[in-house]
Amino acid sequence: MRILLTNDDGIHAPGLELLEAIAARLSDDVWVCAPLDEQSGAGHSLTLNLPVRLRQFGEKRFAVTGTPTDAVNLALRKLFPDRRPDLVISGINGGENLADDITYSGTISAAMEGALAGIPAIALSQAQRTSGREAGLGFAAAEGWAARVLAPLIDGPKARRSLVNINFPALPAEAVKGIRVVRQGLHDYARGSLVEGVDPRGKPYFWFGLEDVEHTLDHGTDLEAIGEGYVSVTPLQVDLTDHAALGALAERYAS
Ligand code: MN
Repeated sequence: MRILLTNDDGIHAPGLELLEAIAARLSDDVWVCAPLDEQSGAGHSLTLNLPVRLRQFGEKRFAVTGTPTDAVNLALRKLFPDRRPDLVISGINGGENLADDITYSGTISAAMEGALAGIPAIALSQAQRTSGREAGLGFAAAEGWAARVLAPLIDGPKARRSLVNINFPALPAEAVKGIRVVRQGLHDYARGSLVEGVDPRGKPYFWFGLEDVEHTLDHGTDLEAIGEGYVSVTPLQVDLTDHAALGALAERYAS
């Protein structure tokens, strides 16, 4: 099994180092192609107005001067001309990617890029705060639970143009209660904090904060699972069509 690893925290991130160790137990054909610098919040952006460069850090380790999407896209085009990876794993992100984080997340978008190419893809993220405070546990839950949560995904059937978003709670591994397959929850980012200041040249600036984001803790969501101490597993689809709305919208244009 050929595995491509990537992330959005950059080639030197500790979560990627841990992911490389986990992947080495799954395969002896593990490749890394990750952004050179941190790209958290880059979403699914593809760099079109600048060239991107590929830097080699080892026999199968590369970094791209661009976004997570650039890294996966370039890897698929340039590094694997003959045989593509069988699996793309993105992470392990330092910080959760739950609910509406999904559309902002470079970690998830990198996995989505694999799914768009028809390759089974998984995004891994480690929550690092509980009740708004840093838990100081690093990647403990991910380290203890990654093998257990990955095994059924690797052994079982894989859906095309679909990816799996996995989050580990900010708990010691032995305190994690189990694994829950849940749907995407809902944040309210519009109510998140906004830091305002004045730069050294006297110009005002704004900085998006992630504190005080409101959560809707509906039953059966990723937010609830993580809040209750479980690993969350959420299947995501690349097709964003609101299928339930198709009929009603078509009727509005029918007359
Ligand atoms: Mn990140």
